[in-house]
Amino acid sequence: MQIFKFGGASVKDASGVKNLAEIVSSFGSKKVVVVVSAMGKTTNKLEELVKQAHEGKDYSQTLKELKAYHHEIARDLLGQLPERYIEFEKSLEQALKELNGCEPMLAYDRIVPHGELMSTSIVAAYLDQHVSCTWFDARTVIRTDQYFTEANVDWVVTEKQIITSLKPVAEETVVVTQGFIGSDVEGNSTTLGREGSDYTGAILAYCLNADGFTVWKDVPGILNADPRILEGTEQYEKLSYREVTEMTYYGAQVIHPKTLKPIAQKSIPLIVRSFLDKGKQGTTIATENTTKMIPCFVFKGNQLLVTAQVKDHSFMDEKKLGLILQVLDLLNIKINLMQNSALTFSFCIDNKEFKSKRIKELLNRDFMLSFESPLNLATIKNYTPDSFNKLPWNRTVIMEQKTANNYQVLYR
Ligand code: ASP
Ligand code: MG
Repeated sequence: MQIFKFGGASVKDASGVKNLAEIVSSFGSKKVVVVVSAMGKTTNKLEELVKQAHEGKDYSQTLKELKAYHHEIARDLLGQLPERYIEFEKSLEQALKELNGCEPMLAYDRIVPHGELMSTSIVAAYLDQHVSCTWFDARTVIRTDQYFTEANVDWVVTEKQIITSLKPVAEETVVVTQGFIGSDVEGNSTTLGREGSDYTGAILAYCLNADGFTVWKDVPGILNADPRILEGTEQYEKLSYREVTEMTYYGAQVIHPKTLKPIAQKSIPLIVRSFLDKGKQGTTIATENTTKMIPCFVFKGNQLLVTAQVKDHSFMDEKKLGLILQVLDLLNIKINLMQNSALTFSFCIDNKEFKSKRIKELLNRDFMLSFESPLNLATIKNYTPDSFNKLPWNRTVIMEQKTANNYQVLYR
């Protein structure tokens, strides 16, 4: 069995869906589970919609645009709107009317999954004209907790449900299902965090013991830098799970960070390849030890540097460091770079206003705090002497760190 994941960009218009159908049909075998995201930028649009509706603002224009966008694609592909699509449009409209007084994260998870529900309704109806296929509601198998908008998967229940209800269907026909969504024990819809469809693919691959998981993207594979930032990027043919896990840790947006663990646990090969250039092999991620990797560049913008200084001329000792780290853990903040000295501890994090506000509230009593933003962070993984010259800008270095394999620089 194979799992395919198609992101929003791959189904952003009718020709995208036709291309998806061509790819799936070309595999001939019946055993493919196709995980699909919301079409194009629909999730952003739904986020806008839920915000407007929740704040009691007029959302009719946003809703109209969202509907018109899907209608055009559906009519182009099918000449009409599929029944199932119409149902989801109705349930979206109903849910929007009922948001009054609803907790914001719960409101989000009631509305935003409609992107995936609507896209898969259209994709499945079209694909069914080419190969026998079944639309499947991912919420009936992916069980999560109630951490709405960033829900965590209950693996025991999910695996059981996938084996009992999804597997038999997938043995018979191609399955089209939604990425990114699940449901809690009470039957509320939940979401797995933005870009979570990759993760859904990995969950299905794990629970179905798939032979492979392919992520179809608009890039030829995994590159050693973002081509929008750096010239002369190179593509990896093979990578190990570990390398890719590290790349995502430093902020490379190659794949959703949670995807690797389940896939690696069962040694399922993960392939990242182009839906545009179907003849190309892409990048294969597997267990094997690859030869020395060419340097990989990761850039992160909008960084915040926080410097905490002790107030009483004592040292920045382990107890004080522990206090700071506890606060960061409590606030679910990931440190991207850190450094300590006799009197200070500095750490770089993604710049989010509500988080820095909470840091101030919780650490102001014990430390003198200073903040600097927006800064940029560059990481070179597996650096070589030459690779530093590739950092092309005139920059003011704020903080720098070098280990045997990695180089990181925070700059203005
Ligand atoms: N549609 C969701 C998003 O845009 C999930 C995904 O695409 O993976 O974040
Ligand atoms: Mg998307």
